[in-house]
Order: sequence, then structure tokens, then C-alpha cells
Amino acid sequence: MEPRIDLHLHTFHSDGTFSPEEVVRRARELGLSAISITDHDTVAGVPAALKAAADAAPAGSGRALEILPGVEMTVLFRDRELHVLGYGVRIEEPAFSAFLDRMREYRLDRIRKMVDRVREHGADVSCEEVLAISGPGTVGRPHLAEAMIRKGFVGSLKEAFDRYLGDNAPCFVKGATLTVPDAVRLIRDAGGVAVLAHPHRLVEDGWIPGLVEEGIQGIEAYHSDHPPAVAEKYRRMAGERGLLVTGGSDCHGMRKQKGPLIGSVSVPYERLERLRDAMRRLAA
Ligand code: AMP
Ligand code: ZN
Ligand code: FE
Ligand code: FE
Repeated sequence: MEPRIDLHLHTFHSDGTFSPEEVVRRARELGLSAISITDHDTVAGVPAALKAAADAAPAGSGRALEILPGVEMTVLFRDRELHVLGYGVRIEEPAFSAFLDRMREYRLDRIRKMVDRVREHGADVSCEEVLAISGPGTVGRPHLAEAMIRKGFVGSLKEAFDRYLGDNAPCFVKGATLTVPDAVRLIRDAGGVAVLAHPHRLVEDGWIPGLVEEGIQGIEAYHSDHPPAVAEKYRRMAGERGLLVTGGSDCHGMRKQKGPLIGSVSVPYERLERLRDAMRRLAA
């Protein structure tokens, strides 16, 4: 049987609901061979995932779960916000971690502005309530949406985004401060490979050549939001341009309606091998 992998997973260090340990436990139960922790603008969950995987299968025992350090960075392109995955980053690289520290502050400031806007629209939510939901993780819109749901201001996450928080909705404040070349430089200088996340959701096909010119090395073709024909389209686009292909479920634990998606997207193991080849070339 082909080894199974999932290269796009969130933890409670951003807007997932599982701890890194729980992600590792579930990945092992599902029999996955490799996973990547890709939280929004933070790598805080990576060390605990590495430790949990190492503790569960001590060296020499044969069946260790591979953990690929990752991050999902919020970036600006043509005045729209999109997501860039950084795989294989050295999480303690000073410039990289200094940037993520600033991003944490920026996200706090941004969520305060969004709370103000949502309050102007009549929702009785406070920043403290949102931060109680995000806990120690980087705060984001799903936490604010949950506060709005708890107050009965909206009935669902979907309603919160459709009416208030989505990228084109009235209470949205941009979460990105980085251009694509700056994000790529931060990732590469930390030894990582930059991959365009779930383009189907955020990216027009015509943008791909421009993104590649700005340093994007791969496309996340396999994703829980990509129907088979869409995944096939992105695999073809990547093939034509000699780009890497990656994939994962984008599991957020129990936050999203569909339940935990971990392991639900089938990604050929060979894609991880090509990704590791690219990481090795960078390190050489
Ligand atoms: P943020 O990092 O604050 O920009 O929030 C990003 C998170 O919001 C990601 O987990 C997205 O999947 C989620 N998100 C973005 N747009 C929507 C939407 N329209 N409906 C539900 N979730 C969304
Ligand atoms: Zn998220
Ligand atoms: Fe994303
Ligand atoms: Fe994600």
C-alpha cells in the first residue's frame, strides 16, 4: 500500500482546534507516513509535533511519523490576500522568527480593528472574548466568527464570513503585510520551499505565471476544496512549468463543519520526495 501523507494541517497555535500532540496521535491512528504542520503565520506547533512523533516511535523502532516543519503565510498579491506554504523551514532562523513575532502583533491589532467594525454592525463581541477563544495561538477570523456565533449574532461560520468577515465583506481588514517576493525570501532564507496554497479558493489562473516569476516553486494541487478536475488542472499547470506539486487536507480540527479532515485527501508520496529533493538543493 502506498504511504499516505497530509501536508496541510492546522493546530490550536493558529485556528485549528487540535493540539500538535493530538494531530500526531490522529495521524498515527490513521496510519499516515508523513505530515506537515502549517499554521497561519506561526511555527509554534512544530516542536511539540516533532517531540510527540519521536516519543511515539523511538529511534530504531521503525515506524516513525515524519514531521515536515511548515507554515502558511498570509501574503498580498495584486491587492488580494493569498496563502503561501513554506515547507522545510528552519523554525529558529532569526529573521524568520522575528518576522513571525511581528506578525503575531499585527494580527492582534488587525483583529481589534475587525472587532470594532463588527461592533459597529451591532454584534456585542469584545476583543477579550475573541482572544479567550484563540488562546495562545495567532488570532484570526475564525476565532472572531466563533465569538459572533456564541453571542447568537450569526448562526454559522459561513454566515459570519459571507456577511461580515470574508475578503470582500464589510468588516474585513487585510491580514497580510508581505508581498510574494518578501515571503519567498523569508522562506528560502530559512531553508524552505515556497508553495502556493489552495489556488482554487483565492487565485485566478492567469496569476500563476506572475506568482512563479515572484519565486513560487510549487502548487498545492491536492486540497479538500479542490474537486478532482481542479486538482488535475493544477497538476497540469505545475507540470507545464516544472513546478512542485503538494497537497493536504487543510484540517482545522473540529472548527469547520465537515469535521476533522486529516488524512482525507489522497496525495502521492512521490510528491513529498520531490519536495524533499528541492529542500536538499536549497541546502546544498
Ligand atoms: P485569517 O488568517 O484571519 O485571514 O483567517 C483565515 C482562515 O479563515 C482560514 O482558516 C480560512 O479557511 C478561513 N476562511 C477564509 N474565508 C472563509 C470563508 N468564506 N468561509 C469560511 N472560512 C473562511
Ligand atoms: Zn485557518
Ligand atoms: Fe489557507
Ligand atoms: Fe490552511
